[in-house]
Amino acid sequence: MAAILIDGKAIAADIQEHLATEAARLRGAGVIPHLSVVLVGDDPASHTYVRSKVRTAARLGIDSRDYVLPASSPEAEVVALVRRLSEDPGVHGILVQSPLPAPLRFRTVLDALDPRKDVDGLHLYNMGALMAGGTAMPPCTPAGILELLRRSGTDLRGKEAVVVGRSDLVGKPVAFLLLHEHATVTVCHSRTRDLPAVCRRADVLVVAAGRAGMVTGEFIKPGAVVIDVGINRVEGRLVGDVDFGSAASVAGAITPVPGGVGPMTITMLMKNTLTAAGAAW
Ligand code: NAD
Repeated sequence: MAAILIDGKAIAADIQEHLATEAARLRGAGVIPHLSVVLVGDDPASHTYVRSKVRTAARLGIDSRDYVLPASSPEAEVVALVRRLSEDPGVHGILVQSPLPAPLRFRTVLDALDPRKDVDGLHLYNMGALMAGGTAMPPCTPAGILELLRRSGTDLRGKEAVVVGRSDLVGKPVAFLLLHEHATVTVCHSRTRDLPAVCRRADVLVVAAGRAGMVTGEFIKPGAVVIDVGINRVEGRLVGDVDFGSAASVAGAITPVPGGVGPMTITMLMKNTLTAAGAAW
């Protein structure tokens, strides 16, 4: 392996130490940072994610409360809860765990959220603000990716950045963040022609397609920085969208899965919660 490993776990731990200090400062000033989590239904993965968010919050000095509603809850009830939490001055951050069970509409529920408490950065106001040049509440995974790039010393100015995937959650927002850092950005998707050739142009390649091992060493320009966002379960193991073995022999730096982008996502959620509580960075 030639590539340097970008250790998301270590970087996340370092940032979390700083976040805990800021949480303690807020508490000392009489502000108890609080995150409310709304979870509808009994999707086991969602329950695992929420448990981990609540645990991390507690470790950093952020109070949290989870509201678990049955899958059969009427949309109006979920909307009313989100509205009530939005109006509660003791609640700084609100997270609606996705996916919501059908027929609940995620966008309708999010519309009820006060954008200032939208710690996932998914309210239309924050998505628009992100496009326009900046938001206090960037979506967590894209913000975590930028932090990984920053901390691994990747200068993005004038670089060719290629993003594989155009979801509202990852691909599109990360493309805007890279653009704001003055990279030349190309966004690829399932209909892109000759994906390997486009990816080989990249100085920085961000892969968020949800296809296990899709990007191999042949897609990578020698020395490129590769960020693997994918989380796929294959035969009981977690693997990324990048075939780590072949990619690491060509790339200059690469994130592992697990231990790359994943720990950064939850860290940025905590950071957004503290921002909403009035943290001074
Ligand atoms: P998504 O399914 O919403 O979007 C996938 C995107 O990839 C689409 O835009 C699609 O056009 C594109 N795509 C699919 N197949 C392709 C192909 N063969 N060639 C080119 N493009 C292709 O997924 P998402 O929510 O953006 O998530 C992507 C991956 O990232 C998933 O594996 C998900 O689990 C993971 N993820 C990880 C984190 C984390 O914290 N590490 C957070 C969010 C998502």
